[in-house]
Amino acid sequence: MLFSNITVFNSDGEILPRHFVLVEGEKIRYLGLEDPRSLPEFEEIAEAEEIYDGSNKGMIPGFVNAHCHVPMTLLRGYGEGLALHDWLEDRIYPFEDHMTEEDMYWGSLLGIAEMLQSGVTSFNDMYMRIEGIGRAVLESGIKANLGRSLAGGPNDKFKLTAAYRETEKALELSKTSNGLLVIDAALHAEYSSAPSLAGELLDYAKERKLRMQVHLSETLKEHEECKIRHQGKTPTEYFADLGLFDLPTVAAHGVYLEDSDLEILRDYDVTLCHCPTSNLKLGSGIARLRAWKEYGIRISLGTDGASSNNNLNMLEEITLASYVQKGVERDPLFLSTAELLKMASFNGALSQGRSDTGSLAAGMAADLTIVDFSAPHMQPVYDPTDNLFTTAQSSDIALTMVNGKVLYRDGSWPTLDIEQIIRQAQRIRDEKLELIRSGS
Ligand SMILES: [Zn+2]
Repeated sequence: MLFSNITVFNSDGEILPRHFVLVEGEKIRYLGLEDPRSLPEFEEIAEAEEIYDGSNKGMIPGFVNAHCHVPMTLLRGYGEGLALHDWLEDRIYPFEDHMTEEDMYWGSLLGIAEMLQSGVTSFNDMYMRIEGIGRAVLESGIKANLGRSLAGGPNDKFKLTAAYRETEKALELSKTSNGLLVIDAALHAEYSSAPSLAGELLDYAKERKLRMQVHLSETLKEHEECKIRHQGKTPTEYFADLGLFDLPTVAAHGVYLEDSDLEILRDYDVTLCHCPTSNLKLGSGIARLRAWKEYGIRISLGTDGASSNNNLNMLEEITLASYVQKGVERDPLFLSTAELLKMASFNGALSQGRSDTGSLAAGMAADLTIVDFSAPHMQPVYDPTDNLFTTAQSSDIALTMVNGKVLYRDGSWPTLDIEQIIRQAQRIRDEKLELIRSGS
């Protein structure tokens, strides 16, 4: 596929108007001002399969949703209007108890469709019954780093947990995925896991050379109660002492991180994932992005699950992150478009250990998104950069490509049966409500 006359927005802030981008197989083969059909080294591809007219369109590296629980699309809107504790205890946990691996599969496909429509080409996920999520990833063609979230008490032994069994099975599944699916270790959080269990997971992850996903200092309660439980240590200090950050880690939320925590995180290979919608909706607070930046920490962006957002729209997440932080900092220049794009693509890719994606250049994986600037709300255009994370909506995403394959284009998903996925989501909703009502 050859994209012609397109404005390329790269994750390093570079803007390249009227460029040509040639995708061959899974990779970007050429990116430049010249039409490759006129260059001798590209003679053999003179007939590209499709010429995509890029006028009035922009190409960006695909977004990486760096923190998600994708099957929670099935819980979208279930139990709204309740305080956090009642919502979890009365609604979310009972529903989750009834969710089968098959439900995870359908819920994941629903969420993947939504993410592709908002320009996401890869995501981090931590949940349960993850083989169903893995199957959905492989069928759809999106990329994902998937962890089986572990929680438990001091009497639990990791190798006897479902988390261990599921991770082992998912590792098998990932072997045939051509790198689309990467299996991580995942610890739910400090407050939901005993140190001995977390330590066993850590040993296992080191042995298997896995990366780590974790929730970190999401709420003030969690942050302060950790100090009481662990001799004054913050969750970051506790995890650092445990050795968790010896593994490359993505830590989600970080709303209550202290300066001393940021110093620790800077010294390890930890990517923080900012989840502004979830933090606002659950009343958790607003993360200190200026401090994160000042400490030189790698910052990524994530939607969290659809029950605390309530969508998986990365474009909306980026715009919200931008506006909230500008408001809090009383600084309209804080977080430029270039910085936001880097957070949402390149940094997310690094958080997954994927060095061949997250930016647009010859030799990189063809993981990219096309934004259409022709809708009324996008016009007129003075500087297209300014329209990206201010006026663009996910309806302006015209195409999402992963590893050179078009997975979303103009309202359709070539690898997914969207009507069937929606029917299944509605069936699961009805069945779970009946199960919960009947008390079984
Ligand atoms: Zn989460």
